[in-house]
Amino acid sequence: MSRLIVSVSGVRGIVGETLTSEVAREFGRAFATMLGEGKTVIIGRDTRSSGEMIRDAVMAGLNAGGVNAVDLGIVSTPGVALMVGRLKADGGIVITASHNPLPYNGIKFLTPQGLALSVDKDKAAQLNSAWENKKFSTAARKGNVTINHDTHRIHIQAVCDILDVEAIRARHYKVVLDSINGAGVEAGKMLLDRLGCELVHINNKLDGDFTHEPEPIAKNLTGLCDAVRQHGADIGFAQDPDADRLVVVDENGTFIGEEYTLALTAQFILGQRRGNLATNLCTSRMIDDVAEQAGVKVFRSPTGEANVASAMVEHKCIFGGEGNGGAMDPRVVIVRDSFVGMGLLLNHLARSGKTVSQLVAGIPRYELLKDKFPCPLGAAQRAIAAVAAAYKGRAGASFDDRDGLRIDLPQGWLQIRASNTEPIMRISAEAKTLKEAQAMAQEVRKIADANLG
Ligand code: MG
Repeated sequence: MSRLIVSVSGVRGIVGETLTSEVAREFGRAFATMLGEGKTVIIGRDTRSSGEMIRDAVMAGLNAGGVNAVDLGIVSTPGVALMVGRLKADGGIVITASHNPLPYNGIKFLTPQGLALSVDKDKAAQLNSAWENKKFSTAARKGNVTINHDTHRIHIQAVCDILDVEAIRARHYKVVLDSINGAGVEAGKMLLDRLGCELVHINNKLDGDFTHEPEPIAKNLTGLCDAVRQHGADIGFAQDPDADRLVVVDENGTFIGEEYTLALTAQFILGQRRGNLATNLCTSRMIDDVAEQAGVKVFRSPTGEANVASAMVEHKCIFGGEGNGGAMDPRVVIVRDSFVGMGLLLNHLARSGKTVSQLVAGIPRYELLKDKFPCPLGAAQRAIAAVAAAYKGRAGASFDDRDGLRIDLPQGWLQIRASNTEPIMRISAEAKTLKEAQAMAQEVRKIADANLG
């Protein structure tokens, strides 16, 4: 049986096995203990059928600890984050296992700013310690539950406020959207209707029946590619189940890769105004090229959306995100947002008059290879140190050790880091050609393997 994964931003497990309603209720009580009596928490969920059970249990825990819950119903992760701010709540909870398969669900905790709780290490530790030790506060006055159905309307208005809606509407784009029967269904339709698109909406039910593997990567999106070709659409979009990530299919039905969501949206933003960007250490160099063309900087953070958000705040960035299809515009909400991604990409098409494939051709191309291999827990540091020693003194090499080890070289970059949850190491390598990227990844793996024993 897989174990319950408890991290600094929440908990994830298989429903009924490791993630039971008892665990969910306890986490509700732990969050109430951390916040204190009389506070208010915004709660939303994706379409998984287990969502209602987990929601009810979490809310029972919150109420028992004297905390009020505002139930938004089925909404996206960025939708919850936005509403935490709009309703001036004391925290948020998203019930989702994002792109994990259907048997999973999860509970993600948000700060009053709508950021993952991991940005506040002390609070995250307080929450997890309350849960581990079962030390829950008791409340003199129990909390209550209210219902709020305003999320989609408020969220889509916020997205439209950063777009040239009329310019997009004038183009009458034909768009295929694959919402994987997830939390992006309703707001996705609302946005594309507002933008005057002819929408072919596939996997658009709220039943949480994932008709393909939910991770938005090439092998899972052949149905979307086919639909784009079949309907002669201008663009295809795929969301993940909680609608924070977005990936794109061009007008020929070709999956262009998840890294382009951030590169193209950032390119559009920088065509409008000047300001710095932030992303994580394993996102493609395309973003550096886009920034260089505009004469602005890219700040890199360790992996994790909350780390990117922190870098954006610290360096006053106007835009940021992650290479996994996550675009973040602080004017809407400082979390990854598939609706922001769709809006900005359509605006980019409308403003430039180009097709998706033409926009893609306008950005220098790289091959980004991602690989993993077994590594006993505790052996990672030795292997990483050996890699650092082997590359020391190489011409043009620079090192960043904030997240495993990233080495930038004249021909590309590579990163090696240990997983937090599994006994594996992850390697990313990016270069102009696949051959070069493979050579870099193989060399690193060889050095690491030799130093694991
Ligand atoms: Mg997600």
